[in-house]
Amino acid sequence: MANRSKNKMEGKYVARRFFLIFLLILLIGGGCTYVGYQIASSNIGDDGDRDASSQPESDATPVSSSEEASSEPEPESQADEPVAEPVDKSEWNLLLVNKQNMLPDDFMVELEKVVDDFRVDKRIKDPLLRLFAAAKEDGIVLMVCSAYRAPEYQEQLFSNKKTELMAGGMGEQDAIAATATIITYPGTSEHHTGLAVDIVTPSYQNLDDGFEKTPAFEWLDAHAAEYGFILRYPKDKQDITEIIYEPWHYRYVGIDHALAIKEKGQCLEEYLNPVLDDLTEPDESEEEASGQEEETE
Ligand SMILES: [Zn+2]
Repeated sequence: MANRSKNKMEGKYVARRFFLIFLLILLIGGGCTYVGYQIASSNIGDDGDRDASSQPESDATPVSSSEEASSEPEPESQADEPVAEPVDKSEWNLLLVNKQNMLPDDFMVELEKVVDDFRVDKRIKDPLLRLFAAAKEDGIVLMVCSAYRAPEYQEQLFSNKKTELMAGGMGEQDAIAATATIITYPGTSEHHTGLAVDIVTPSYQNLDDGFEKTPAFEWLDAHAAEYGFILRYPKDKQDITEIIYEPWHYRYVGIDHALAIKEKGQCLEEYLNPVLDDLTEPDESEEEASGQEEETE
């Protein structure tokens, strides 16, 4: 009797132990399955599209589609931006040199003679010759009267003028300021780039507004852009360019840019920086200087 009840109790004890072990296995097994699931789902997220097709209805699908949904509008907004900033300013033919943008210290240019002894950046030689040839075909004779100018030469011009004004009794600072209204400050002339050319015609070689009334100007105004050249200092842009109206000064920017600039009615500064409403105030002394003989640009 005692033995039988002892065995009964031992049997219950063993059964309870087995039950507890079974419970433990269940818990551990469940935990492993849960951890395994966590790892698996995090892998799906990281692998993205690669695993998404093999994991139907997994987290991967919503993740990738929400990524697409959130990234899709961005290209649209980026696509809008080029309207405000449409050009790659690092293009060699879009180099901006003006009073605010001096010629870079490391600037290098390969020059080539184009007409007479005038030299230009060798890359614009052909476009310039094509421009002249096309004009000739239309009965217009064009002449180069200034092209590349070394910064040292500009310095010489500037210094000569300053000395002349000082000899007339002007103080040095005033003389520098007065000279700067007539002669482009060394390092700020577009002629240093080799991309600018002053063009006239045999019957009118003065660098003044009168050139505007010649058939040569009319032809240039109509066709220069087709060869990659722009009228660099338009009449209505003097407050931005800070250079007097120069119907004779043309600048190579490339055909596409030239046509775009002409169509938009912009000057180069505006084309490169569309937000240019408050650049500078017009300088009246420069306008007064327009009738003088000295070189400007
Ligand atoms: Zn010029």
